[in-house]
Amino acid sequence: MTANNFRCGFVAVVGRPNVGKSTLINTILGSKVSIVTPKPQTTRHRILGVDSHAEHQVIYVDTPGIHRNANKAMNRLMNRTAANALIDADLVLFVTEATRWTEEDQDVLQRLESVKAPVVALLNKIDKVHPKEALLEALSVMSARRDFAEVIPISARRRDGLKSLTELVRDYMPESEPLFPEDMLTDRSEDFRAAEVVREKLTLALRQEIPYGLTVQVERFEKDENGIAMHAVIWVERDSQKGIVVGKGGTLLKKIGRAARLELKAQYRVPVHLELWVKVKDNWADNEQDLMRLGYESP
Ligand code: GDP
Ligand code: MG
Repeated sequence: MTANNFRCGFVAVVGRPNVGKSTLINTILGSKVSIVTPKPQTTRHRILGVDSHAEHQVIYVDTPGIHRNANKAMNRLMNRTAANALIDADLVLFVTEATRWTEEDQDVLQRLESVKAPVVALLNKIDKVHPKEALLEALSVMSARRDFAEVIPISARRRDGLKSLTELVRDYMPESEPLFPEDMLTDRSEDFRAAEVVREKLTLALRQEIPYGLTVQVERFEKDENGIAMHAVIWVERDSQKGIVVGKGGTLLKKIGRAARLELKAQYRVPVHLELWVKVKDNWADNEQDLMRLGYESP
């Protein structure tokens, strides 16, 4: 027996890296469940964001961007994770940038061919479209690419178009009881989210390819009314990367730690004691066993 016409379902949010998938989910939920940076491969895991209302619940599935050149085990795992989210979806949001269409977008579109759920195309970052007439052109080009359920222009950052989007999403949800408690925002643990905050600050502080070679493992996360005590290890792939992350006289690591601490303090409203260690594990991102040990679960 279902509760009085309650609606609930899964929405897979897919697209190439960096189009704004995580930003979109965070904005809809009004809370940061998934980290965001201007760099590709920021999201490495499947992360659920639960949007609960009186008569419906939408479970957004944030996914790693589907990307080419998946030459390491971690990258193959990320692509598999994204592909898997499509299987259970009641609706797919295919996120693209209004100002740019690339071969990687084309790859994702191709993967969507076998998807049974309706697919809504989103043209994100419309705040960057000038002149505005260019948007009409982008909409018509996108509509011709596939028989989309809808094509909707949005700006995840500025919230443009999100009200009509969430209403549309609600209407696509099947009748079902809620699958999560209504006060639950994400399926991810506090440890996981804290590690992600550290990784976000690392990614923002480091240039070029180094962010892709590191991961963060929380060894201790204790929270009580006096505050949070957290120890985390930053794993890098090579000795040379360790020096870069630590920085001259430890300055960069201090800066990263401070940024992470401030965000955690703002989030939990308690003092935060954070200790970070940098360690080397040769080539962890291409080693299936290291991946499992470091929390990269197989979908
Ligand atoms: P993801 O890799 O698809 O999850 O993308 P993210 O959510 O991490 O965002 C990638 C970058 O795009 C970040 O720098 C975001 O701030 C930026 N971004 C996301 N949405 C918008 C938007 O609507 N407008 C603009 N101008 N930037 C955006
Ligand atoms: Mg993301």
